[in-house]
Amino acid sequence: MKHIFARLAILPLLLCCTWSMAGDKHAAHSHGLGNLELVVQGGTVKASFEIPMESLLGFEHLPRTPAQKKAMADLQAAVTQASYFINLPAAADCQTKSLQVNADMFNGKKSEHSDLDAELEFSCSQPSALKQLEIPLFKKHPRLSSLKVDMVSPKGQSSVTLKAKDPVLRW
Ligand SMILES: [Zn+2]
Repeated sequence: MKHIFARLAILPLLLCCTWSMAGDKHAAHSHGLGNLELVVQGGTVKASFEIPMESLLGFEHLPRTPAQKKAMADLQAAVTQASYFINLPAAADCQTKSLQVNADMFNGKKSEHSDLDAELEFSCSQPSALKQLEIPLFKKHPRLSSLKVDMVSPKGQSSVTLKAKDPVLRW
């Protein structure tokens, strides 16, 4: 009897750890392909982007020419706007709660590859209107061809690949 209980106690532990390993995404860096983790819960939307700098700038070394310096300065200014990353339905009446952007290149650091990491959180007063969102990044950056999305929505957990030709995520 004791033996059975001991085995039952181990089961949730195994489930927990297998699940967390699967969820522990450390995405491979691949040019043209970004990653997005999205959680929609009630009126809260949380998004975490990881996008190769090459897809945003066309280069991944520190800027050298005046044109490259301007491109990076423009990008650095653009990413301070949440609407640069996500457009939520107007009817959902969302406010940006936080936006944090990190990129080694913005700090003058460069390894072989570089990503832009962005964490966003929105709070929406009309959650019933939250049924989709648009990713405007595609229009601004033709080098970005797809975005792998892992999401948790009121409909459950899912993974989809969003393409530039239809940059709207629906749930
Ligand atoms: Zn790269």
